[in-house]
Amino acid sequence: MSCRYMAAISSSLLRSTITLPTLPHFNPLKPPNSVRLIQSTFQLPVRHCPHRAMSRVSATHDEEAAAKAAATEANSGAPTIFDKIISKEIPSSIVYEDDKVLAFRDINPQAPVHVLVIPKLRNGLTELGKAEPRHEDILGHLLHASKIVAEKEGIVDGFRVVINSGASACQSVYHLHLHVLGGRQLKWPPG
Ligand code: AMP
Repeated sequence: MSCRYMAAISSSLLRSTITLPTLPHFNPLKPPNSVRLIQSTFQLPVRHCPHRAMSRVSATHDEEAAAKAAATEANSGAPTIFDKIISKEIPSSIVYEDDKVLAFRDINPQAPVHVLVIPKLRNGLTELGKAEPRHEDILGHLLHASKIVAEKEGIVDGFRVVINSGASACQSVYHLHLHVLGGRQLKWPPG
């Protein structure tokens, strides 16, 4: 995990672009448990490990390795870095907060606006793939909070909400979070 964040520091200098995937429904590499929620535009960010390494291939491998390592602890119930953000043990740039959710800027932004929206109480929601009927209220609340974030950030006319669920989708923090992205022309298809 630490390597991941060390690599993230130089992210803005090392962005690359994946061009392999074509249409999502024709893509044999599309992970079955990845979930992407799209709002307002039909464009997703290219999720391509831009901050990992000098080559596209090694960057992808690094991202996948980090995601797999994170996944091994996913169901341990161990606190994540987001718990420390919620408790304000470590600083974050908070954009929106209410009694149920917290929204703060991503430390490694993939767009001019990149905000993470998380439930304050994880309550089993390590990933969207673990959602149960009892989570319906908080899931709806998170989506609505994402729209509030988009309004506050001035991107409500065109933005994207993404959830990476599971190692195959390169999820790296096992506390459900919605990525709210915007502020530039977003591309399609995603990586
Ligand atoms: P994912 O890879 O979908 O699990 O997304 C996790 C996100 O958390 C990544 O985009 C990271 O950049 C972000 N992240 C990790 N640590 C922090 C932090 N301390 N503050 C803000 N964002 C963070």
